[in-house]
Amino acid sequence: MKNFEKKACAYALKNAIAHDGKAIVGSVISALFNEGLKQDEVKKYAKEINKIVLEVNKLNLEEQEKEYDKIKDGLSQRETREGLDELPNVSKKGVIMRFRPAPSGPLHIGNMIGAGLPNSLYVKKYGGKFYVIFDDTNPENVHAESYKSIKKDCDWILGNVSKYLISSDRMKLYYDYIEKLLKKGVVYVCTCSADEFKKFSNSKQNCSCRKLSVNENLIRWKKMLNKNGFKEGEAVLRFKSDMKNSNPAMRDFPLARINEHEHPRQKKKYRVWPLMNLVVPVDDMELGMTHIIRGKDHKDNAERQKMIFKIFEKKFPWTFFIGRVKFTDLILSKRKLNEMISKGELSGEDDANIPTISSLRKRKYKPEAFVKFVEQRGLTEVDKVIDSKEFFKIIDSFNRRS
Ligand SMILES: [Zn+2]
Repeated sequence: MKNFEKKACAYALKNAIAHDGKAIVGSVISALFNEGLKQDEVKKYAKEINKIVLEVNKLNLEEQEKEYDKIKDGLSQRETREGLDELPNVSKKGVIMRFRPAPSGPLHIGNMIGAGLPNSLYVKKYGGKFYVIFDDTNPENVHAESYKSIKKDCDWILGNVSKYLISSDRMKLYYDYIEKLLKKGVVYVCTCSADEFKKFSNSKQNCSCRKLSVNENLIRWKKMLNKNGFKEGEAVLRFKSDMKNSNPAMRDFPLARINEHEHPRQKKKYRVWPLMNLVVPVDDMELGMTHIIRGKDHKDNAERQKMIFKIFEKKFPWTFFIGRVKFTDLILSKRKLNEMISKGELSGEDDANIPTISSLRKRKYKPEAFVKFVEQRGLTEVDKVIDSKEFFKIIDSFNRRS
């Protein structure tokens, strides 16, 4: 390999800068594959790469950045242009990705760093389609004003949304899928109380609803939809996964429930609401999602959604579970933010004391500053704990440079 040492050094520095000053040998090796390193050469170079990584990790972050600036020109263009690692399985048409904010309050920096920006940036990198889908099928978790403010925020900070979709406008699609699942006999309407079902689950037993015929289930489903049928809490649609699954959270999980709370957008039009583990895989199948970057807290959900994909014999999108950025001193709970706004403790969604996207926009931050932060961090499963002072020190320096 030409200029091996220089390239290995540059990648070690780049990797270290993105990971709090500590490069990882494996990451450096995989980056070198982009430069033509062959699998059967890894052994030959491993010792030297190890040595370089050790040396790089001895430097502090500032020294690493200085060194990197000096030698990065030797790297292939796409590696330095975008700080993001390559994704696997990217076709010539690019990628189809999404961001699913709940319109339940103001979007904040945590939403963007953990999901919005990484997905958006990969669509910018490869081309393709980028959907923003409002997750609003829990009528109790919807703020009518949030649709508009979230769209404004996404237009500003992401800027490449191909299409905005609203889940609650797609109810017919979800109902159609539920009927297909009922007819395939892979879901059932369970009328056990929550307590009863919990007992079955704890003892790894099937409840008696599970063995009902397809016809019986279709009748029960109609009774869920009919306002003179089952009442709220009396019936829930469950997926037949496996009541003996070692993870209790996977045992016959629910896909839809009755909730008569008035929906701010759909009003009283629906009483049966599909849950996340139905809505998300249906959208992903229908829109042909190819890659998903989501938080580590969604690992169980991804497992559940994979089961729905399997029923329809569809290939599950490539998925990466990104580590969380945990702010030690910022309020990121939408519920808490809403509460403080309605109590008048904050002047509004764009109050200068909170890390909402509208507040950052008002404070004259440029979207590029946050893009740089996400690019430098890259795809990592490692959680990062940071306080606001440290975070804004980084963001401020990016903001000056961009
Ligand atoms: Zn039951």
